[in-house]
Amino acid sequence: MATGNINVSVENIFPLIKKFLYSDHEIFLRELISNATDATLKLKHLTNIGEASVEYGNPIIEVKIDKENKTLHIIDQGIGMTREEVEKYINQIAFSGAEEFLEKYKDTAKDSGIIGHFGLGFYSAFMVANKVEIFTKSYKDEPAAHWICEGTTEFTLQETDREERGTEIVLHINEDEKEFLEENRIRELLVKYNKFMPVPIKFGTREESLPLPEDAPEDAKPEKKTVDNIINNPEPAWTKQPADLKEEDYSNFYRELYPMQFEDPLFHIHLNVDYPFNLTGILYFPRLGKDINIQKDKIQLYQNQVFVTDNVEGIVPEFLTMLRGVIDSPDIPLNVSRSYLQADGAVKKISSYITRKVADKLKSLFNNNREDFQNKWNDIKVVIEYGMLTEDKFFDKAGKFALYPTVDDQYFTLEELEEKVKENQTDKDGNLVLLYASDKESQHSYIQAAKEKGYEVLLLDSPIASHLVQKLETSKEKLSFVRVDSDHINNLIKKEEETISKLSDEEKEQLKADFEKVVPKEKYSVQMEAMDSGEAPLIITQPEFMRRMKEMQQTGGGMFGMGNMPEMYNLVVNVNHPLTSTILNTKQEEEQARLIKQALDLAKLSQNLLKGEELTAFIKRSFDMVK
Ligand code: ADP
Repeated sequence: MATGNINVSVENIFPLIKKFLYSDHEIFLRELISNATDATLKLKHLTNIGEASVEYGNPIIEVKIDKENKTLHIIDQGIGMTREEVEKYINQIAFSGAEEFLEKYKDTAKDSGIIGHFGLGFYSAFMVANKVEIFTKSYKDEPAAHWICEGTTEFTLQETDREERGTEIVLHINEDEKEFLEENRIRELLVKYNKFMPVPIKFGTREESLPLPEDAPEDAKPEKKTVDNIINNPEPAWTKQPADLKEEDYSNFYRELYPMQFEDPLFHIHLNVDYPFNLTGILYFPRLGKDINIQKDKIQLYQNQVFVTDNVEGIVPEFLTMLRGVIDSPDIPLNVSRSYLQADGAVKKISSYITRKVADKLKSLFNNNREDFQNKWNDIKVVIEYGMLTEDKFFDKAGKFALYPTVDDQYFTLEELEEKVKENQTDKDGNLVLLYASDKESQHSYIQAAKEKGYEVLLLDSPIASHLVQKLETSKEKLSFVRVDSDHINNLIKKEEETISKLSDEEKEQLKADFEKVVPKEKYSVQMEAMDSGEAPLIITQPEFMRRMKEMQQTGGGMFGMGNMPEMYNLVVNVNHPLTSTILNTKQEEEQARLIKQALDLAKLSQNLLKGEELTAFIKRSFDMVK
């Protein structure tokens, strides 16, 4: 038997470990299972290359709770350690690693920006145990070793008579960490961190029904047998080659990741690269709809199949955090703050690789089956539009697949649209004018009017549409977007002859004055226009830019201070409409005001502007009229 002092200059390292890692003490289990996995895979490698002349077999890792003795056991069948190796790896190397860590992070570890995964390895066991034992037998033909340490710098190391190859770690759980003796708590941790680790992990047993023989009577009960309860899937889909996977495998894996999700994802992207960095993973596009804030199931980040975090902010571009799935990379530095992460060269490369892969996939989906892509468009557009706004590289690529649907469900790329409208929709400065609506219902009358003139009307109804059209306009010359209810629609060059006004200039002046007496000046600017007599008598329009700026501010990123701008509208009077003549010819002032008011309310109603008290009064008045 040997006794000795652990070679470390920090007087008592354990209180420090506990203090620094306190908030994350549950990770001890992940660390110990990682060690057990490493030990197993090392043995696999040694037997493969003929260095170890033992049977590799089908090794598993077992996690066991002994409630009576208040111990938690982690047992592997890996390479094990000789006594010398325990001296070397446990007493010296690991401790110096811990010391180095504390030295390096003593100023910053308390900073909340630090991710709580320091890779302290074996010694994280002391976060939850006051005494740790190691029983280990090497694959080499040497006696087993037994190491005991009670959370001080002293240890004992002696021979023991263990026969099975591998290592058993025994944690004597602290009184105030009793939760780690609860089956449910341990199962929860295993599922969270180890669900996809490469070596099978056994936690308890379960009953399994044996198949009934062919000739069994109908009421026969199947026989049960007890089997190991394996909690992980050692070969998750992302570790396989895309060529070896079917569509079904991808959707099954999605279920495995998100058991509470009942809806299938729309499509997946398999990531697979080993140079200049190592990264694998599968990303899924869920059905997103219009809501950009919904984000229940997040992308999970793994390192060599060990779960690290579901906060991938800084690692994937923000717009892709709306997706789901798994990223596995040993090349993402984790013991650093988020702001450092974003500046890290490797992480930047990873982020732009992922962006590129997503763009390529979207492009190939578009090229291979445009109809299907169109059908999915409304469920994925938020991600794509958000990406176009925030990542310039993505914006450039998206030109090939971003779609602009019309109100009649036809889908065009921007290029196709430009081609389609170049004859019919230009303004006096030679700009192409693309008309759009943001809501088919409330803008119905405007959409109808524009369509009757032969214009193409797009439906851009996502919450960031105003940002997007702004961005498209600034990135392309000679292109402008105009909402159907905007005054700029008048800038379009009309193909047909100017409609001739039925009223003389004097009459128009008079009518304008009549309107201005009734309509509040601070809200409406009254304009006379000769339109077809079949068109509405009054149309309310909004200045395009003011409205757009306001919307942009509401959805973030707009110009500062625009929120206080007054609401201003144009009231366009169709001088050729019969009602207009009636108003002009009504000499009785009260009656004329009543007509104007009623017509204005109707115009407001069609623009969804008639609300509250005004609406109540309007309804009452209308009932009185039909009485
Ligand atoms: P790391 O795993 O980062 O090297 P650890 O402190 O977790 O650091 O472990 C130190 C060393 O102890 C390991 O590198 C390994 O050589 C040895 N070791 C730990 N656990 C086991 C185990 N279950 N079986 C065999 N060797 C182990």
